[in-house]
Amino acid sequence: MENCLFCKILNRELKAEFIYENDEIACIKDIHPQAPTHLLIIPKKHIATILDLTHNDEKLIGKMVLKAGEIASEFNIGNKGFRLIFNCNKDAGQTVYHIHLHLVGGRKLKWPPG
Ligand code: 5GP
Ligand code: ZN
Repeated sequence: MENCLFCKILNRELKAEFIYENDEIACIKDIHPQAPTHLLIIPKKHIATILDLTHNDEKLIGKMVLKAGEIASEFNIGNKGFRLIFNCNKDAGQTVYHIHLHLVGGRKLKWPPG
């Protein structure tokens, strides 16, 4: 999608630090980390928000969540704990309208979130 930050990162038009990539998803480091580990799992398919998902995307979302868990284990934060977050629309603080799963951990996280 033209003018989409994450499409540009996935196309290598813009730089990012890649942790993982296959034909359907990628994982990059967040540029403004909110915790010692802050990664973004991003589908290569441009989907603006969680509300734009269709049932055809069920497997894709499942793969994103499974990969997030695997990466959390690789980063040795699996047992201590981590959080997976999809922000959707303004009130949740979504700023990039190409869905992405935040993987946040490496410190004690507060609940409820701010
Ligand atoms: P959102 O607020 O939409 O849930 O999350 C967007 C995330 O993308 C934010 O955590 C922000 O720090 C991150 N981000 C914004 N621009 C860039 C960028 O150019 N590169 C990387 N790696 N992350 C970015
Ligand atoms: Zn996009």
